[in-house]
Amino acid sequence: MKLKICWMYHDLMDLYGDKGNIQVLKTRCEKRGIECVVDTCTLDEEKTLADYDLLFIGGGADREQGLLVNDLLKRRDAIQEAMDQGSFILLICGGYQLFGQYYLDGDGQKIEGLKFFDYYTEAASRSDRCIGNIAVEAALDNERIIAVGFENHGGQTKGVNQPFGKVLKGHGNTYQSAFEGFYNGQVLGTYMHGPLLPKNPEIADFILRKALAKRHGECTLEPLNDMLEHKAKEVMLKRLGL
Ligand code: GLN
Repeated sequence: MKLKICWMYHDLMDLYGDKGNIQVLKTRCEKRGIECVVDTCTLDEEKTLADYDLLFIGGGADREQGLLVNDLLKRRDAIQEAMDQGSFILLICGGYQLFGQYYLDGDGQKIEGLKFFDYYTEAASRSDRCIGNIAVEAALDNERIIAVGFENHGGQTKGVNQPFGKVLKGHGNTYQSAFEGFYNGQVLGTYMHGPLLPKNPEIADFILRKALAKRHGECTLEPLNDMLEHKAKEVMLKRLGL
């Protein structure tokens, strides 16, 4: 089997270990004998996004979001085409915000979003910045899981009609939100850095299955030994009082 990943804006959007998500996907493929190709795509680079099974954008500060937004908006049709052809999309924090209507940053500067979804993001007052560890109860289609991560965002994302999960500890989409992220079956946006996939191997395999489905149809993945990952999650949940 083969998986092709496009890591968009790798040189601008990579906060709190987001690149670890790519490393995990690659390693989990290699351990199963699945060929995994990772290409990057940054400003002004020509890439046919629909050729990829998975598009990934990590988190980034307001400055980086502002730097890449024009390039991203030019790729709107290409991203739509990738979605139409069944590519899966994983977005962390700043990347997640950019798929909504807009992001109004702390200086009042408005960064237009791709407007694929209804949600929009506005900066909170300084005291309401969402920082810290987070635990979320989420559904990976039919499988219920507890995910853990680290969030650090000023942006408050509102109008999310399909959240990824329920916040058990931490903030989520807004400072006092009961919900975290966005998931519509094909696009998963989340505030969980940490990075997300090393801490939550069940999400990593879920995304691999979703992305592999584009080229190979529904497939089952050989289980890997995730004892260490599970132990680490247990420790974190205990620290969070869960
Ligand atoms: N700049 C955005 C915010 O503060 C995103 C930050 C991030 O990606 N961690 O909301």
